[in-house]
Amino acid sequence: MSTSAYFRPVTRSQAVQSGSKFADLKARAQALQTTRSRGGKSTPTAQGGPSSSVDPTGPPQKKTAQKRVKREHTKIEYEAEADGDAKGSSRSAKPRTTHSIKKERWEPERWREQLENIKRMRAARDAPVDSMGCQTCPDKDAPPEVKRYHALISLMLSSQTKDQMTSAAMKRLIDHGLTVDNILKTSDQKLGELIYPVGFWKTKVKYIKNTTQILKDQYGGDIPATVAEMVKLPGVGPKMAYLTMDVGWGKVEGICVDTHVHRISNRLGWLKKPTKVPEDTRVALEEWLPREHWSELNWLLVGFGQQTCLPVSPKCSGCLNKEICPFGKSQLRYSKNKKSPKK
Ligand code: SF4
Repeated sequence: MSTSAYFRPVTRSQAVQSGSKFADLKARAQALQTTRSRGGKSTPTAQGGPSSSVDPTGPPQKKTAQKRVKREHTKIEYEAEADGDAKGSSRSAKPRTTHSIKKERWEPERWREQLENIKRMRAARDAPVDSMGCQTCPDKDAPPEVKRYHALISLMLSSQTKDQMTSAAMKRLIDHGLTVDNILKTSDQKLGELIYPVGFWKTKVKYIKNTTQILKDQYGGDIPATVAEMVKLPGVGPKMAYLTMDVGWGKVEGICVDTHVHRISNRLGWLKKPTKVPEDTRVALEEWLPREHWSELNWLLVGFGQQTCLPVSPKCSGCLNKEICPFGKSQLRYSKNKKSPKK
């Protein structure tokens, strides 16, 4: 059979006769088209389908304009994975955005100004930390490894203790002979008498003895040279480790965050989100504070916290940061409202 013969049009009767479903449907469609073009009424389908019951005598029906919403097309470019897929499978392709998302480095708005003000307020260097802080405790005439041991012991004593007490205890220990060998020979009771009344003195006796033994056994009588090793020593936390690294080895590996640095950083708004513990404050500060300020920050803020930005009732009215410190501003607003007479 030739192709033209195969597609020859047939009449409805011919189609019905031949039983060709295809031809029958085509004939029905042609008939429907003819009825519509004449404005005639179409009859419901045999299957009960919808009928277009348009009354030819009625008013002309308005054609409802079909709203066509143009959808915007987002172009997504794809690139093969670095290791490549020889077959170019779509599974291995990763969408690549055509614009890069810039991650901006966060930093507090006016921190430089705030830090400069603190430096100006600390210019006299007359806070307890300046004359009795841990950096002042080691015996200047002692050999380097002994000085480092002194720095470590003074920091262990300083936890939960005022600088005055730590300094006095360190003087008594140095007079007694503060070396690894001599402390191992000293009884716990004698050591307790020497360091009393520093905070948690009984626990500190144990920590000092155990730490000193480890220094003797594992570090040849010197202190460890990394923060990771330092924090493994009994009674030594990150705050002490970072400061000991700075004072003992002259290496600044992190910011030493004690209770003053923690409190003041939160008050000044130096943290993206308020923090609850000093270790979180250290991590948050190190994210944005340039490294050249890491070492000075501890003594600056400790002294500032001892003299001006006190834990309770900070002296905000006399602080150079009072206009640019969130905590100070709220404090001053609060005290103003308290004083103003009720109308
Ligand atoms: S204004 Fe008050 S809270 Fe703020 S830094 Fe100064 S003393 Fe501290």
